[in-house]
Amino acid sequence: MNFDWSAEDAAFRAELKGFLDAELPADFDAFTLDPHDQKAFSKAFGAKLADKGWLVPAWPRAYGGLDQSPWQQLILSEEMVAHGEPRTAQYMCVNWVGPALILAGSDEQKAYHLDRIRRGDVTWCQGFSEPDAGSDLASLRTRAVRDGDDYVINGEKIWTSYADVADFCFLLARTDSDAPRHQGISIFLVPTDAPGLTITEIPSIFSEGAFNQCVFENVRVPASWRLGPENAGWPIIRQLLVNERIGVARFRRAGQTLDRLAQMAVEQDLIDDPLVTDALAKAQAACDAARVLIYRVVDEKAKGSAPDLNAYVYRVATTRAERAVYDACMAVEGAGGLIKGSFGALQFGHALATGIATGTTEMQLNLIARDVVGTARN
Ligand SMILES: Cc1cc2nc3c(=O)[nH]c(=O)nc-3n(C[C@H](O)[C@H](O)[C@H](O)COP(=O)(O)OP(=O)(O)OC[C@H]3O[C@@H](n4cnc5c(N)ncnc54)[C@H](O)[C@@H]3O)c2cc1C
Repeated sequence: MNFDWSAEDAAFRAELKGFLDAELPADFDAFTLDPHDQKAFSKAFGAKLADKGWLVPAWPRAYGGLDQSPWQQLILSEEMVAHGEPRTAQYMCVNWVGPALILAGSDEQKAYHLDRIRRGDVTWCQGFSEPDAGSDLASLRTRAVRDGDDYVINGEKIWTSYADVADFCFLLARTDSDAPRHQGISIFLVPTDAPGLTITEIPSIFSEGAFNQCVFENVRVPASWRLGPENAGWPIIRQLLVNERIGVARFRRAGQTLDRLAQMAVEQDLIDDPLVTDALAKAQAACDAARVLIYRVVDEKAKGSAPDLNAYVYRVATTRAERAVYDACMAVEGAGGLIKGSFGALQFGHALATGIATGTTEMQLNLIARDVVGTARN
């Protein structure tokens, strides 16, 4: 077996790395910028990536992509994360909003939205979670009621990242309250300046402006803004959530933090402390495990199968890696790891977010228990 990257993949990584090294400051980290600055930055940087074809390289050529292989998509994700994820808010539209439009959009929707996303001109947010619908997303109650050629939307979404800077919201709403829960949900592509939509920041322990509440009061949208058939949004969401789960190579950022911590431990003569070496080694093993597990998902994609279950396994592994790196931060920094701006404080935020966003770790474990362990026992 040959575990090396192909010459073509290695050349792509080298070219990409060279470009990012030249274009970005060495310590750039988009997640330390506030959402408004992130948007301005990602718009400017997105245009440069678009010029190279690297904003949506995974998309088919017919939609302005490069038909890139799943392995090259992973390389892109690894290098972007290693360079502070300069696409910031746009990782969402390029990773799964665009693919959802390609999968289920009408010709009119594709013509309107895909080119804007491809050029990096727009930002999207994800209107899924509600006060009583997070882990149990199918219990969502935001309603869209058909009224002639329009739908009228009422309800509340919470934890919506980037809603205050986004141009569009990828919204889930119930269109049939009598149907079984998963069969009455539709997707709507809603401009965030639609009359009746109020967006308010929710303060949090994450960065400033990280979350928003979106209240829909009689928001009227044309039926042509519904993505896919009425009441059939759930299968589309299921497919695209796999892209979301594996879209950001978080283990790579965690691994970089670990390298810096190890360096700090050497400089501070802590590297012979067994508690420090133990924490560093466990974190390194956890990052390596996450990397190998995403490679399994990518391999499945490259061979043409849908990587549903292994994406959950990877997601749990990447959360464990983030948490193990946090433990290593505390072993090296001690109480200093509680101070704002320290490795520990930053890593705490990353580890917490990874274990909740895109479905909590407990929910991922439930799905693994049901679909992997359960299937194996039957
Ligand atoms: C950084 C970040 C960004 C986010 N961005 C967005 C966004 O842009 N758009 C959006 O729509 N949402 C977003 N979310 C929300 C996220 O999807 C939800 O927080 C998540 O799905 C959990 O839902 P909840 O908060 O309602 O918690 P709950 O579902 O209420 O869960 C609370 C606790 O109970 C546990 N639990 C619940 N049910 C079970 C069960 N059946 N078995 C075992 N344990 C269970 C959970 O694991 C959790 O620990 C974001 C969250 C974070 C942290």
